Amino acid sequence: MSNLIVICYMVAAVLFIYGLKMLSKPTTAVRGNLISAVGMLIAIAVTLIDRSIVSYEWIIIGGIIGALIGATAAVRVPMTSMPGFVAFFNGTGGLASFLVGWSDYHMHFTRDGYGAHDLDKLVLLLATYLAVLIGGVTFSGSMIAYAKLEEKMGSKPILFKGQQIVNALILGGALVCGVIYVWIPDAPAVYGVFAITGVLALILGVLVTIPIGGADMPVVISLLNSYSGMAACASGFVLNNTVLIVAGSLVGASGIILTSIMCKAMNRSLANVLFSGFGAAEGSLGGGGGAQGEVKALSPEDAYYVLEAASSVVFVPGYGMAVAQAQHVVRELGDLLQHNGADVKYAIHPVAGRMPGHMNVLLAEANVPYEQLAEMDDVNPTIDTVDVCIVIGANDVVNPAAREDPSSSIYGMPIINVDFARTCFVIKRSMRSGFAGIENPLFYKENTRMVFGDAKQVVGALVEQFKSA
Ligand code: NDP
Repeated sequence: MSNLIVICYMVAAVLFIYGLKMLSKPTTAVRGNLISAVGMLIAIAVTLIDRSIVSYEWIIIGGIIGALIGATAAVRVPMTSMPGFVAFFNGTGGLASFLVGWSDYHMHFTRDGYGAHDLDKLVLLLATYLAVLIGGVTFSGSMIAYAKLEEKMGSKPILFKGQQIVNALILGGALVCGVIYVWIPDAPAVYGVFAITGVLALILGVLVTIPIGGADMPVVISLLNSYSGMAACASGFVLNNTVLIVAGSLVGASGIILTSIMCKAMNRSLANVLFSGFGAAEGSLGGGGGAQGEVKALSPEDAYYVLEAASSVVFVPGYGMAVAQAQHVVRELGDLLQHNGADVKYAIHPVAGRMPGHMNVLLAEANVPYEQLAEMDDVNPTIDTVDVCIVIGANDVVNPAAREDPSSSIYGMPIINVDFARTCFVIKRSMRSGFAGIENPLFYKENTRMVFGDAKQVVGALVEQFKSA
């Protein structure tokens, strides 16, 4: 029986790795997701059979509640709220590890204690401590990220004097508690010490996340994702469950890789993201920024004449396309332009929207051909040869201040250089700033035309113009 279980766990692990690899390409991502889910199903089923479970009642109740929450969220949560929910689910993963660590410690403490010191015991103690520490930080940090992304609290960084010293002291306190716990786990007073570790972890999660501004949330989400994997890995050691160790390591490693990709996309170091309080300074937000000049507005009817004559068009979607749910009508316009003889591409910035891959998901939903999708680094070198760039509800990811204004808080962040195209249309509802709260000089450039309105309605009007021509 135990050999069969090991084999099933290996199959599940292989399915995780295979599924994860498939997630890296839009063409195989859906299948990859399914394959990983099958791996998880096998892992859960085998674990339920493996353990000498006394009663299945609570497991069944928990399973039904979890499945209902998961299915409802998958069906009902709109795409625009997905980043917040990813943060929320990361948090629940952290909480699960926190509770596993806590219950294992409680069980040992109230029953037989840990007994004599040996290597196995050391590993168990460390794993229990890390599950509670990392799980606690992940849970409370993710809840703050969720609240910021869902606008249940302000997205601006919350900073106070001596913040990093306070954080260092709390982390130091948690580490000291850890040393005491590992050293003398059976001493009566250590129960309190372990409880303090849990409380400090929860406080630390809040304190390390509040100074991070909304614009840096993509990095934080993937970092918390990595933490939730590490916490799951630690609880795998606590429960001596191989597949949890493997799955946790995969999530931990892939989260770190994604974090580093996101940092590169923003041209920031991780330390800068975590500690600089990006976007907090007055003047770096809202107005200011020195953007000046005349705003030239254009109606969809006039924009049509320019597009009709264009031989190359690049769409640059952003968060506003998701809000307007304009992806289908954008694709329709793309098809009409192509039919009209234009070379059409969709340029995707790595942090456009509100979660990694946000634009890819929307454009895939609208069946935009994969060969028309282009990454920022592929379009930028030749963007000056493009007739028209159509910016659809994007703002920060096309803000030339990142390139031109050393005093801007996004200076150095790579952007799609839409202002280098011959003509640039910006479709948005107003002159309001984007997520980072920074004014955008693109709107005042000589070759920019603002086409004001909801993205779906404006693009729909352009489609109508093409159809009725
Ligand atoms: P932005 O948030 O910078 O700008 C979106 C623009 O869309 C707004 O200026 C808004 O202008 C416009 N808009 C909103 N609704 C509509 C609508 N119905 N029709 C037309 N336009 C609309 O988006 P970007 O995609 O350019 O940049 C993403 C930002 O989010 C970056 O700062 C990034 O760091 C951050 N971020 C990214 C995450 C990720 O993983 N991708 C996660 C979290 C944050 P108006 O109100 O005038 O219409």
